[in-house]
Amino acid sequence: MKPRVSESGIVRDDVAAGCDEVDGLRLEWSVACNVGSVREANEDAALVAPGLFLLADGMGGHDCGEIASAVALRVLSGIPVGGGQDETRESVEALFLAAQEEIVEIDVASDRHAGTTATGAVLVTHDGTPHWLVFNIGDSRTYCVRDGAFEQVTVDHSQVQEFVDAGVLTPEQARVDPRRNVITRALGAGIVPPRADFFSFGTEPGDQLLLCSDGLTGELPDAEIEVILTESQTAQDAADALVEGALALGAHDNVTVVVVRVGGASTAEDPAVSDTAEDPAVSDTAEEVGHDDA
Ligand code: MN
Repeated sequence: MKPRVSESGIVRDDVAAGCDEVDGLRLEWSVACNVGSVREANEDAALVAPGLFLLADGMGGHDCGEIASAVALRVLSGIPVGGGQDETRESVEALFLAAQEEIVEIDVASDRHAGTTATGAVLVTHDGTPHWLVFNIGDSRTYCVRDGAFEQVTVDHSQVQEFVDAGVLTPEQARVDPRRNVITRALGAGIVPPRADFFSFGTEPGDQLLLCSDGLTGELPDAEIEVILTESQTAQDAADALVEGALALGAHDNVTVVVVRVGGASTAEDPAVSDTAEDPAVSDTAEEVGHDDA
C-alpha cells in the first residue's frame, strides 16, 4: 500500500497514514477507503488534517453521492482546531448548513436527493485541557477505546436505532435487519435542516478513535472491531485489518475507516463520554431516507 493524501485532502479508494503533533499531543492516524466487493461506485470518503478527522458516506446514485460526500468533507475541513468547545460546535453547525446549501444544488438525474452522512472528531480546548469534540449525522459512527474499554460514542440516526431505543430490536439484531439502511438524519437527502449530535470528552494517552462508515459495521460485529483495535500494533495495522475483515465477509457496501491513536502527555480529568447535544432525540419531522444505492 502506498500511503498518500490526494491534493484535495480527500481520501477515496485509497489509503493514507501519518502522524501529527497538535497541542502537545502526538496523533498517529491511518485512513482506508475501499469500494468493497459489490458496489461499482465508492461514495464514501474521508479527510484528515492535523487535529481534525472526518468521514462521509454519500448517497443519491449517478455520481451524486460521491459529490455530496466530497462537498461535505471540503466544507467541514474548515472546522477550526484547538478552539473552545462551544465556539467550535457553533462553527461545525454553521459549516453543516453551508455544506447542505451546496448539496441541495447538486443535480440529480433521478427523483432521489443527493445527500451524505458525516462523522468527525476535532481537538478542542475545554477547561484548559485538550478534548475531543465528536459529532455525527446519519449512521456513520465514531468509537473510542480507552484503557481497553470499547465504546460507541455516536448514536446512529436510523430507523433501526429507533427500534433499539424502543427495545424492539437488540443492537445485534439491528445490525443485520433489512431496514438498517433507512437513515433519519443526513446532510441533504431531502432532510432539512441538518441536525448533528455532539459529544465531548477529554483526551488520554493511549486512546484510540475509530470513525467508520456503515459498510464496516454492517459486516463486522462490534466484538470483532474491538479485538482488531485492541490487538493491532499501529493505527495503520488496525485500519488495514478492519477493511480486510469487512472484505472477508463480502463487503456489500463501501467500507471506510479512520483510526487515530493518541500519544503524548495529557491532563484531561474527565474521561467520561458525555452527550452535549441539546436535543439528541430524533425529530418527529425527520424523513426516512433510503441509504442503499444498490
Ligand atoms: Mn454506506
